[in-house]
Amino acid sequence: MKKELQLYFQPKVDLKKSEIMGSECLVRWIKDGKLYKSPGEFIPVAETSGLILDLDKYVLSEACRQIEIWESSNMNGQKISVNISGVHFKQKRIIDTSKSVLNRFKIPKGSVELEITEGIFLEDIEEAADTLIELKALGFGISIDDFGTGYSSFKYLSRLPINRIKIDKSFIENIGNIENDIAITKMIISMGKLLNLNVIAEGVETKEQLNLLIENGCTEVQGYYFGKPMPLKEYEKFYRINKDK
Ligand code: C2E
Ligand code: CA
Ligand code: CA
Ligand code: CA
Repeated sequence: MKKELQLYFQPKVDLKKSEIMGSECLVRWIKDGKLYKSPGEFIPVAETSGLILDLDKYVLSEACRQIEIWESSNMNGQKISVNISGVHFKQKRIIDTSKSVLNRFKIPKGSVELEITEGIFLEDIEEAADTLIELKALGFGISIDDFGTGYSSFKYLSRLPINRIKIDKSFIENIGNIENDIAITKMIISMGKLLNLNVIAEGVETKEQLNLLIENGCTEVQGYYFGKPMPLKEYEKFYRINKDK
């Protein structure tokens, strides 16, 4: 199966600097040259079967390998983020995975960010906190994915080593037409400012959504409006063309 897994890269844009800050790695299952199943279908299966540990490790290794390659080229200085399943946080398994990956690749501190969901705080918040502190010490950035859809607590946001929160795309989808969704989006952006956290909006598809985000002080965005997740070569081309736009 590993041979059929491929990393796709979706650009993340820093509006303040007008540049591509890096990308999110999203796994694709390719069979006979075609997309076979979507992550939404096979990730949950991998989570119940335990295969997710190997899958995440593979994606994290490939992402670190890529950062190492880019660092010695004119594509240096990029950030990359990798999704880590909540399953990986139990019994601190993510620590072993991270250490073994870091042994193999030399990457700048903070260049790789781990995207996790709030679900990890549901079971044992103390253990999850210890794990995050260790990951931070190893040099990884921490981003809370799908923010606002799970168990959000101000307490963990202010006390844990979190670098970034990602406003879930379900809010962005409706910011133009559902008042509560623009209200929640605004609230997350101002909370990020107060707590000194970077805030990125995902799922930005239209100019209208982008303008609403800009009006409300959001400075980092990701979504089809800028670029879809794409294979490595295509992403590298995209990056070279749009780097400083
Ligand atoms: P996610 O981490 O919340 O990723 C965002 C999803 O939204 C991705 O779907 C992405 O392709 C899609 N997306 C990006 N921009 C837009 C947009 O403008 N509009 C819309 N409608 N969608 C957009 P994808 O790649 O199918 O991944 C689905 C989920 O599968 C991810 O959600 C993540 O939870 C999981 N996943 C993907 N790759 C990995 C991986 O390597 N490891 C793990 N553990 N999970 C992964
Ligand atoms: Ca993600
Ligand atoms: Ca997300
Ligand atoms: Ca999601």
